[in-house]
Amino acid sequence: MEKPVIAIDGPAGAGKSTVARALANYLNLRYLDTGAMYRAFALRLHRLEQLEAEDLVAAFGEARISFGTGTPPPVFLDVEDVSEAIRMPEIGELASRLSAIREVRVLLLRQQQEIVADGGVVLEGRDATTVIAPNANLKIYMTASLEERARRRSREFSAKGLEEDFRDVRSQIEQRDHRDINRQDSPLTVAPDAEIIETGGKSIDAVINEIVELLHQRAGGHGRTDV
Ligand code: C5P
Repeated sequence: MEKPVIAIDGPAGAGKSTVARALANYLNLRYLDTGAMYRAFALRLHRLEQLEAEDLVAAFGEARISFGTGTPPPVFLDVEDVSEAIRMPEIGELASRLSAIREVRVLLLRQQQEIVADGGVVLEGRDATTVIAPNANLKIYMTASLEERARRRSREFSAKGLEEDFRDVRSQIEQRDHRDINRQDSPLTVAPDAEIIETGGKSIDAVINEIVELLHQRAGGHGRTDV
């Protein structure tokens, strides 16, 4: 497998970003955070106060969402580095709502598929395995209990100096899962040929080992040996 495509889906807080990033680094592949694109879309509409616009894609305008180089790759909205701004809780919430709108998904899907077309990438999101890269070499569905995922999200917020009430974080995650699973267009679901990885109580390294092992099995080789 020269330029493998590894697609990872799962609910909020399952550990997808952390694992996908480290995995891409380890395997020397590119990393695509598709959720960051929904967040950048939401940030721009929020700033333009265009959330009620009839045509959200037209309201978004000619702005370009792109990724720089680095670990993790910075996210750009035109020339501005918005990596921090898109992580605010209200932007995540908005991204979740906007991602249920078909026209928004069509716009971002096109860009995501362009990035994936050359191969050699680890991508993660909610429809990475089912819609963006249905022919990926390896598909993973990563999950953990709601409590565990809420704990992780709370810790991430605390690390950024944002004190969010744990119960609020948990109920926001629950609502986002509900929206992602039940929307009409590209809902979050387990692809028939995806490997399910339960991340509860596991270290990042343990999860990466599992994935590398699976990848080597597909390629007919052996697992990771250096951790
Ligand atoms: O993964 P992250 O939480 O950053 O994504 C923000 C939101 O974007 C998610 O809550 C989800 O609703 C949406 N999303 C999506 N499809 C993707 C990636 C993210 O609908 N492939």
